[in-house]
Amino acid sequence: MQTPQELLSPRRATRQIQIGSVKIGGDAPVSVQSMTTTKTADVEGTLEQIYELAAAGADIVRCTCNEEAAAEGLAHIIPRSPVPIVADIHFHQEMAYAALEAGVQGLRLNPGNLRKPEEIKSIAAEAKDRGVPIRIGVNAGSLHPDISSKHGGATPEALIESAELELRYFEEVGFEDVKISVKASSVPLMIAAYRLASERFDHPLHLGVTEAGPPPAGLLKGTAGIATLLAEGIGDTIRYSLTADPVEEARAGRQLLEALGLRERTGLDLIACPSCGRAEVDVIAIAAEAQEALESRNLPIQVAVMGCVVNGPGEAKHADLGIAGGRKKGHLFIQGKIVRVVPEAEMVAALVDEAEKLVAEGVEARLAAADATAEAEAAADRAALLDAKGADANHASVKIERIRERMGEESGPDV
Ligand code: SF4
Repeated sequence: MQTPQELLSPRRATRQIQIGSVKIGGDAPVSVQSMTTTKTADVEGTLEQIYELAAAGADIVRCTCNEEAAAEGLAHIIPRSPVPIVADIHFHQEMAYAALEAGVQGLRLNPGNLRKPEEIKSIAAEAKDRGVPIRIGVNAGSLHPDISSKHGGATPEALIESAELELRYFEEVGFEDVKISVKASSVPLMIAAYRLASERFDHPLHLGVTEAGPPPAGLLKGTAGIATLLAEGIGDTIRYSLTADPVEEARAGRQLLEALGLRERTGLDLIACPSCGRAEVDVIAIAAEAQEALESRNLPIQVAVMGCVVNGPGEAKHADLGIAGGRKKGHLFIQGKIVRVVPEAEMVAALVDEAEKLVAEGVEARLAAADATAEAEAAADRAALLDAKGADANHASVKIERIRERMGEESGPDV
């Protein structure tokens, strides 16, 4: 019997790029993206939203980088993000450099509003040196005015010409680590533009219907455009653009891919932090062990494995259940509230035990059964770790220093 993928048109062959740990294009699974709506300078608020997006199915998250404070926020966010971060750059080249200094895993440039060839080439050259891919993010609503007037408006050909022009600049500096989007709010225009893009380019394509609006109409528009193309074998990564909580975007993206048989359904949703300078345990090993132990039990919950009790329970407070390391202990939490502290060696066993009880008894009952001293013990461990490692365990201050130097050197009008 044919698999669901075999019933759709075969996926068009594209080159493969890699945003952080996520491969895009080639034989990589179609990935889901979303974008934060917080101010990127609000580190804790943005990280909280990134964790929610990851738990809802986002493989990659984009954050705006529109001011120096946003770039400095990224320097703190990136080491603690569970998924790779792409910085969205409009108008100001110096924000691209600042985002690169902050350590972003990808850039998105809009050719419609970052137009000076020398600046584009210079950003591409630096991205090349750092091994950071760029999305050429053409948007029908902000098309380069010269291209728009040449084509009599935002036609599919005009969108493709904008991408081709940017690609030529990139090629001049030998930069090829690129994916392309040609989004429009009109579904027929977007479909036609991507069909053309898939004939012209072998770069991975990022699909989306831009400014689709609030659900349900926004969801329908996004689905009409994205699903049509995916069924034709076009598209390597997708984003719904909804006027709504971005969690709905990530969830819709994931559900669409599952409905088309392009991603597997998951009962258990295990998320893990990336393990930054604060990590107190081997997050990768514990997450793998927990995945193996929990998967077979088919528990329909989100479980978070976090490297430290300083930030873990807060970052993953939207997970049903989680465990965070620290001071040779595991701090078990339900929806961000510490319910039990166990020896480090018992972390996975405690997680499995609590997961089964949580599914059987429900959140309220398990919160009521919490160990009365657990919160206080976790607070003491948190304080001791902060004392031992200081407030800047990820050395963000070094990156921020470089961002400030770059902003001092590079700033100036370029609109
Ligand atoms: S080690 Fe702690 S601060 Fe670092 S990413 Fe993991 S939970 Fe967040």
